Amino acid sequence: MVRYVYDFHEGGRDMADLLGGKGANLAEMTRLGLPVPPGFIVTTEACRAYLATGAEPEGLSREVSRRLSALEESAGRRLGRPDDPLLVSVRSGARFSMPGMMETVLDIGLNDGSVTGLAGVSGDERFAWDSYRRLVQMFGSTVMGVDAALFEDALTLLKDERGVPDDVHLDAGDLARLVETYKDLIRRETGESFPQSPAEQLRRAVLAVFESWNGERARLYRRREHIPDDLGTAVTVQRMVFGNLGRDSGSGVAFTRDPATGRPGLYGDYLPDAQGEDVVAGIRNTVPLAELERLDPRSYRQLRDHMTTLERHYRDLCDIEFTIERGTLWMLQTRVGKRTAEAAFTLATALADEGLITPREGLARVSGEELARLMFPRFDTSATGDPLAHGIPASPGAAVGAVVFDSAAAVRRAAAGGKVVLVRQETTPDDLPGMVAAQAVLTSRGGKTSHAAVVARGMGKVCVCGAEELAVDTGRRRFTTRDGTVVEEGTVVSVDGSAGAVYPGAAPLVDSAVMRYLETGETSEGVASSVARVLDEADGVRRLEVRANADTPEDAARARRFGAQGIGLCRTEHMFLGERRKLVEEMILAGPGTGRDRALAALLPLQRQDFTGILEAMDGLPVTIRLLDPPLHEFLPDRTDLAVRVAAAEARGERPDPRDAALLAAVNRMHEENPMLGLRGVRLGLVVPGLVAMQVRAVAEAVVERTRVGGSPAAEIMVPLVGAVEELRLARAEVERVLAEVSEASGIPVTCPVGTMIELPRAALTAGRIAEEAEFFSFGTNDLTQTTWGFSRDDVEAEFFPAYLDKGVFPSSPFETLDREGVGRLVGIAVAEGRAARPDLKIGVCGEHGGDPESVHFFHTAGLDYVSCSPFRVPVARLEAGRAAS
Ligand code: PEP
Ligand code: MG
Repeated sequence: MVRYVYDFHEGGRDMADLLGGKGANLAEMTRLGLPVPPGFIVTTEACRAYLATGAEPEGLSREVSRRLSALEESAGRRLGRPDDPLLVSVRSGARFSMPGMMETVLDIGLNDGSVTGLAGVSGDERFAWDSYRRLVQMFGSTVMGVDAALFEDALTLLKDERGVPDDVHLDAGDLARLVETYKDLIRRETGESFPQSPAEQLRRAVLAVFESWNGERARLYRRREHIPDDLGTAVTVQRMVFGNLGRDSGSGVAFTRDPATGRPGLYGDYLPDAQGEDVVAGIRNTVPLAELERLDPRSYRQLRDHMTTLERHYRDLCDIEFTIERGTLWMLQTRVGKRTAEAAFTLATALADEGLITPREGLARVSGEELARLMFPRFDTSATGDPLAHGIPASPGAAVGAVVFDSAAAVRRAAAGGKVVLVRQETTPDDLPGMVAAQAVLTSRGGKTSHAAVVARGMGKVCVCGAEELAVDTGRRRFTTRDGTVVEEGTVVSVDGSAGAVYPGAAPLVDSAVMRYLETGETSEGVASSVARVLDEADGVRRLEVRANADTPEDAARARRFGAQGIGLCRTEHMFLGERRKLVEEMILAGPGTGRDRALAALLPLQRQDFTGILEAMDGLPVTIRLLDPPLHEFLPDRTDLAVRVAAAEARGERPDPRDAALLAAVNRMHEENPMLGLRGVRLGLVVPGLVAMQVRAVAEAVVERTRVGGSPAAEIMVPLVGAVEELRLARAEVERVLAEVSEASGIPVTCPVGTMIELPRAALTAGRIAEEAEFFSFGTNDLTQTTWGFSRDDVEAEFFPAYLDKGVFPSSPFETLDREGVGRLVGIAVAEGRAARPDLKIGVCGEHGGDPESVHFFHTAGLDYVSCSPFRVPVARLEAGRAAS
């Protein structure tokens, strides 16, 4: 018989799959002896069963009532008892934290009878009625599906009638009236009454939490965070404790270290006389945690001790939620806290220095994406002028965009290609689409733990919150700064999430500290030295080499500074552009014969010079030079432009420019419906006489030149788009003929390994044959993905991938993250068969996937020797290759 419910005493942190993150950690805290209000957890398995069948799983209600009885016994109170009722909270809690994305119902157990009981035992009638109206409101909207705005409207109406500015000024009588209004509202909207039976309240609340797993907000959040859709959520049922019982009560959120920088010290927000929901919603402005030390030193000391216990136990930064009920501290949640990229690196080394973790564990706790984020530029504060406003630096980075005042406007403008900054008083989970679309989020209320801050940090999005000096007027779509400056929707501002400042206009950018370190080796700023240490650790353990895709000496030099161990792909077509296009045109127009030879001869010294520069920048390290790949007509002018020019001349009764006419004829002759599947790659080399010879001669002569000046050039020649061993055999014969010629003529032996790209399924499937002729393989996973799926790499991403991602055909674009199941299988086959045929075959990858963190892990496991990626991804690949190996 499946078991669906666990008591806090029975779980632990390693049961998060079943109990959800929140439940597992509550259980862990209970085991550690921390003051956790007792409760139990309904498992994710129950949720999955419910979502699959739409019916309450068999036996669930029996288990819940058994657990509830135990809870009632230990509390000495019964749910809904009129004189001294037990109240419980019902909260969602999935395996991965999804802050604010699912439902919560508090104060379950209150009804028309027990509300007076609660008033009696608490001695606070207002509190009892306020709790009841919260329950009716939350239950009405989340469980019974009544539009939440209707409750808000009713509340506003009452406040207006009573002439009070906020709900704190409503008295018990007002709130009792509000409860009646809410109940009427529910009856009117649903045809049903608010259930008075506490057991029914509990049962329906649990099911509503299950349902909320598939709510729109939750689904959007999961897609963005790549959380699988089939995990389901657990539900935590816990005895209520109250932070809104007067000045000796309150609720707060705290971090064991600063989640923005990773620096030591307790950080958090506290809200006296409030429930936890009020803190996270950012509705009222919180006070810093340090203030609690003054207000309630005993609770503060206990809190500090518990947080030390948790950080030592979890050996990581933890965040917690707590409530103080009349001077008694209760721990309501903990988890390993979300943090910024800077904090992640700082913590990785700080915790290692404190002996809590090993440097290897530190490596596992950072990611390539976080490193990439730290490489983004920062604002040049010496040139920004005065800020428009200051706020709390909640999530770092530099973002520029036009201000918008609601989620829909953010989504609309971003879809049209604009960059926007979402400005709100505070955000709620409903703002999520706008937050996703925006470059940055700016709020005028709420602390480091407000919804805006937590969600933005999780997404790596720039955020400044609590900029109190801004008067945000959402209705008129503008904000006003302290000095009276009015900023209307559409105005461009710059948001500095690291400093917590907002500047007018687009502020100038400078390199980040981490970029300066990568460029110069300078580590004077804290995070740069942490990055340096973590990268050293990665370099020490990784098995994969990391090379760069580079085709200029400048890129090669930068890649080398960033730690590249050679060039894995030098695309020579980039050397056929600009000024040289004319020569390429001539070569094409001339056709076979002396004209073409002349054009090729003119290209030769230019190519030689390119290669010499790159070999110099990478002296001593391998440089894989790929022979020309794209179809030649890519180097000719646009067919339509030419046709229009020729036709216009003819229409004027003039003779078209003979060069235009010749080019148009050539373009027409060479036109292909599917150029990506046409005359390109090795095919080009085999049918355009002299092309391979010219390129190989340029490489060989560059090697000679570098050798003569004492260099150690290590060029490799790579043949693209091979599908059959015969193609490679023919190309290779030509390569070797030219190498021998240059060796002979120069008196310097030039030996270059010759290899091929594996970028067609046929190449992968016949890799054993191809390896007979190849000294190395390099997977061209861009083309291999294109040809395996039959997706045009130039078109589909904008065209229908959004719909495919939406429908869950794949979790991310296969052009970004390697499709292990299909393309990965071909890689596996090619590695196995290639190595079987030639054990010392060197194997790498040079498609975009070489710099994608998840794909790097795959290439490590697949047994490749190296990954090659763009220079800026080299540090990311080094880090991920290290993580993959540890
Ligand atoms: C590839 O196809 O993966 C590759 C690296 O070559 P290109 O992107 O130049 O086609
Ligand atoms: Mg390719």
